[in-house]
Amino acid sequence: MTNDVAGCHAVLHLDRLAANLAMARSILGTGGRILGVVKANAYGHGALAVSRALERAGIDGLAVDSLDEGMDLRREGIASPILVMNPLCPGDASPMIAAGLTATVSDAEAAEALQSAARRAGRPAGVHVRVRSDGAGLGADRGDVAFLLRRVRGFANLRLDGLFTHMIGPYRDDPVQIGREVAGFRTLIDRLPADVPKPPFVHAVTSPGLFNAPGARFDMVRLGAVLYGIRMVEAGGAPFPFRPVMELVSRVAHLCRLEPGDDIGYSPGARRRNEGRSGGRAAMIPVGYADLPFLLRFRDSAVLIRGRRAPLIGEAFMGKVLADVTDIPEAALGDEAVFVGTQGIETITVEDIGKANGIRPSAILMLGPRVARRSVGQVGGEE
Ligand SMILES: *Cc1c(COP(=O)(O)O)cnc(C)c1O
Repeated sequence: MTNDVAGCHAVLHLDRLAANLAMARSILGTGGRILGVVKANAYGHGALAVSRALERAGIDGLAVDSLDEGMDLRREGIASPILVMNPLCPGDASPMIAAGLTATVSDAEAAEALQSAARRAGRPAGVHVRVRSDGAGLGADRGDVAFLLRRVRGFANLRLDGLFTHMIGPYRDDPVQIGREVAGFRTLIDRLPADVPKPPFVHAVTSPGLFNAPGARFDMVRLGAVLYGIRMVEAGGAPFPFRPVMELVSRVAHLCRLEPGDDIGYSPGARRRNEGRSGGRAAMIPVGYADLPFLLRFRDSAVLIRGRRAPLIGEAFMGKVLADVTDIPEAALGDEAVFVGTQGIETITVEDIGKANGIRPSAILMLGPRVARRSVGQVGGEE
């Protein structure tokens, strides 16, 4: 039972995060390095708590999208290598070096800016070169990679750490596209001219590729979704051995009558008219689209109350949503209401919500600022 002001909290099972990392390691076998992707506040889970837990669990390095995300983690004492995956803007070179972040470079101007900043700072800077995939995406064109690698290697203050690409095919679970992307990247590496150094860490695989692109693991993989226990692709129904890290829990804050014809929501429309029986009841859950942005466009969703599914009705408000509890007569004020997680024998997963509402599973947990996060199952002792 909870008493949050916002009425909703996220429970973070940090032990499952560690177990998911161990599972990824066992899938990879020995030798493969893992970068834990903690961009976008660790997919809503809280970048700092997640980064600390991953560090304790022995992650090889972390990855974020932007300079700011990397600087925030450094400020909080995260010491692991942090790769900033978006290609470097030349103007970000100095703060990047001051924070000891590893830059992604996909053009010569960025490499030059980084070299100048590193020389001025008297500190070497690590660099990964990013190459565009055959699918699409950010990065240097394949034809420019040899030139760029030579250029980076030629700069005294830069250290060439890696070469990577971000594939699209694995997310579409499309074997033809995966084959094309993997072959394109592999050919690029195999055909680098003899005078061009092969960087120590080559990487292409992300969460879905762990299942559907096993031939592209190279030296390192970049994992976000699977570490959080989020399944991005069916991958031919292969078992998914990762457990969800986050549960989302609220409570019943008010109960009211629900009559057929009740029109719930600001937008007029018969679609929102309740067609239930007379003498029905609705539970108000103090969680709206300010807290769970996916509620703004839910089509078919529910919460668990007393171990049963209570369908959400009408439309979500900024700070609340109504659930139909007509069929749960014992529902009472203060009852736990689970958006994501398990209650009794019922479970709601982000994959279920994603499928029923046409939303990517990884978008469901992008929480608003009012939602408190609580860690349980700390790895290696309390904070
Ligand atoms: C987000 C991201 C990842 C992580 O992807 P998952 O599917 O969550 O594992 C890896 N690499 C890049 C470049 C990304 O932007």
